[in-house]
Amino acid sequence: MKTVLVIGGGITGLSAMYELQKWKKTNETDIRLVLAEASDQLGGKIRTIKKDEFIIESGADSIVARKMENTPLIDELGLGEDVVYNATGRSFIYTDGELKLIPEDAVFGIPASIESLAKSTLVSAEGKVAALKDFYTVNETFTKNDSIGSFLEHFLGTELVEKQISPVLSGVYSGKLSDLTLATTLPYLIDYKEQYGSIIKGLEANKQKFKGGERKFLSFKNGLGSLIDAYEEKLDEAEILKNTRVEKIEKDNSCFQVFLNNQKIIEANYVVLSIPNTAAENLINDSELKKEYSNFKNSSLISVYVGFDVPDSLLPADGTGFIAANNDELSCNACTWTSRKWEHTSKSGNLLVRLFYKSSHPSFESLKEMDQEELLGIALEDIHKSLGINAKPVASEVTNWTDQMPNYLKSHPKSVEALENKMASDYPGIILAGCSYYGVGIPDCIQNGIDSARKILETI
Ligand code: FAD
Repeated sequence: MKTVLVIGGGITGLSAMYELQKWKKTNETDIRLVLAEASDQLGGKIRTIKKDEFIIESGADSIVARKMENTPLIDELGLGEDVVYNATGRSFIYTDGELKLIPEDAVFGIPASIESLAKSTLVSAEGKVAALKDFYTVNETFTKNDSIGSFLEHFLGTELVEKQISPVLSGVYSGKLSDLTLATTLPYLIDYKEQYGSIIKGLEANKQKFKGGERKFLSFKNGLGSLIDAYEEKLDEAEILKNTRVEKIEKDNSCFQVFLNNQKIIEANYVVLSIPNTAAENLINDSELKKEYSNFKNSSLISVYVGFDVPDSLLPADGTGFIAANNDELSCNACTWTSRKWEHTSKSGNLLVRLFYKSSHPSFESLKEMDQEELLGIALEDIHKSLGINAKPVASEVTNWTDQMPNYLKSHPKSVEALENKMASDYPGIILAGCSYYGVGIPDCIQNGIDSARKILETI
C-alpha cells in the first residue's frame, strides 16, 4: 500500500490532505494518508483564541472574500451559516500626533481623482502642486522592473508618496517601496500612465475595479479557527499525528524514510512538504539543496491584542484603524480597531484593538528582546498616545511571529523555480508547498494544497 505523508498541518497541508482524502474516497483506493504536525494543534498561522468575551486571531484574521465566494469549499465544510463579514469603515494615518483620514477616493493611498488629491489633509499645498506633474509628463524611462517607489515619486512627488502612499502600500506589501518593483505590486500603474497619460486619471477611469464594496473580507462567527476545526473533522480517513515533529528525511530508493521526534519512522512514497522554508531547509542533509533554500527571506512581526472593559464608542473617531506614518512617534506600525471592524470579536461591544510591530520598524531591535509583559506595556503606551485611551486592560494576547512572514523578493520566482527543479531531479516524490513559495493569502494556500495533492495523484 502506498503512503502519502503531509508534513505540516497549516492551511496548506490540511487542504492538500482534504483533496487526497476526497480522491481516496471517490476511487475507493487503498492508500495510507498521514499528516504530521509539530504543534499540539492544527492551523499553523491560523490560531483563534477565546479570552474573556473576546475572539482573538493571533495570526491571520480574515480571508479576501472574493477569492472564496466562488468556491464550494465553505459549504462543503459546513460553514456556510457561520460566515461573517468585516464592517466597512474609513482608515486613518497617524501622523504629527493626530489621526488623519486616508482620502476616500484613493487606491492604496494613491489619489484616484483630482478632488481626492485636493481634499487630502495628509499633504501640504506644495505637495499637492508637486503631484500635478503626473498630468503633464510622460513616462520615458520606467519599466515594470523598476522600483514602485521611484516611479511614484517621479510623477507624484516625494511628499505625497512619503506621507500618504508609502504608509499604506508598504504595509500591504511588507517592504520599502524602493525595494519593491512595479511588477510585483501594482504593474497596471505603468499601463495607466501610458494609456491615460496620468496615474491619477488611469485610476479614476478604472475605479470600478478597485471598489471594495461592503463585503471585502470574511471570517466565521467563532473565528477563523472554525475552518481548521472543520477540516480536522472531515479528515476521517487520514491519520493525524499532532505533537509530531519531522526531524529528518532520507531517500531510500524510490521512497523516503521520515524520522519523527518520537523516534518512530514513517516510510512514505510521497511527501507534501507544507512547512515554512526555515523548517524545511534542515530536514534533508544536502548542501546543494540548502544553498537553494538560502535564497528565501522572512521578516518578523509581533501582534499584540488588548481588550478593555470599556465600550468601543470611546474610540476617538469612526473607523476601523490606523497606520502609523512616522517611525519616531509610535512603536507600532499599525493598529486595527478589531471590535469595530469585526463585530463577532467582542460580545458586548467592548473595545478590542490589535497592534502590529514589524521588523522594518527601527524600535523592533529592542522590542524583539522584550518579554510579553513589557510588550504589553509598549502597546498600552501606543494606545494612550494615539487613541487617548488609558483604561486598564482586561485581556491581552502577545504573539511573536519570528521569521514567519515570507518576503517575496524580486528574485522570488527564480528562487522557487531553482528549488523546485532541484527537488524534482534529486528527490522526486517530495512536493514543495505552502506560504513560503506560492502566495501567502489563505485562498492561495488552499489552492496550493489542492494543486500539490493533484501533482501526486497524477503519478500515483
Ligand atoms: P503555516 O501556517 O506556517 O503551517 C505550517 C505548519 O507546519 C505549522 O502548523 C507548523 O507547526 C508545522 N511544522 C513546522 N515544522 C514542522 C516539522 N518539522 N514537522 C511537522 N510540522 C511542522 N493571510 C490571509 O489570507 N489573511 C490574513 O488576515 C492574514 N494575516 C496574517 C497575520 C499574521 C500575523 C501572519 C503570521 C500571517 C497572516 N496571513 C494572512 C498569512 C497566512 O496566515 C499564511 O500565509 C498561511 O496561514 C500559511 O499557511 P501554511 O499552511 O502554508 O503554513
